[in-house]
Amino acid sequence: MRHETNICPICGKGNLEIVLGYTYEYKGNTLTLPNYTSYVCSHCGQDMEFGDDNINLDDEIMNFMRKIDGLLTPKDICRMRKSLGLTQKSLAEILGVGEKTFARYENGSVTQSRIMDNFLRVMGKHPEILETLAGTPGSRFAYTESMRVKYILSDGNLNGSTHSAYQLAATGTCEYV
Ligand SMILES: [Zn+2]
Repeated sequence: MRHETNICPICGKGNLEIVLGYTYEYKGNTLTLPNYTSYVCSHCGQDMEFGDDNINLDDEIMNFMRKIDGLLTPKDICRMRKSLGLTQKSLAEILGVGEKTFARYENGSVTQSRIMDNFLRVMGKHPEILETLAGTPGSRFAYTESMRVKYILSDGNLNGSTHSAYQLAATGTCEYV
């Protein structure tokens, strides 16, 4: 949605002038978004954007920074998790982070730490390390030969893939960033 009128909604006096394009500098690298549209008021100088049909600037900038820093993107993490056949909840528990925290890695609102990024990369290449984590005392998971982590019921028996809270999610798209 474009701004309906040309009058600045902040000061009510100036006219809004279109600013095409956006650049962002990070560690000597420049992100250029030629299609980004924003506005600046001729009177108060306030800059603003009106969303909807615009580029999500936060997502673009955070992914740019991840790329420069050599960190996995949210899509990378989502794909990796799905290739392991794990839900966000089960992988979060195995990694020892909160489910909400892990969900934020995948929706892009938070960038994982370097140590988490390193660990995720190793796990992606060597999924068998999950066997070690899932097998630690107190873990509610066990790793099986079928490369799937399964939930352990309170009696110590492995449950199949039908436990409602821990259904496996090997298929499906990564709908986030
Ligand atoms: Zn203004």
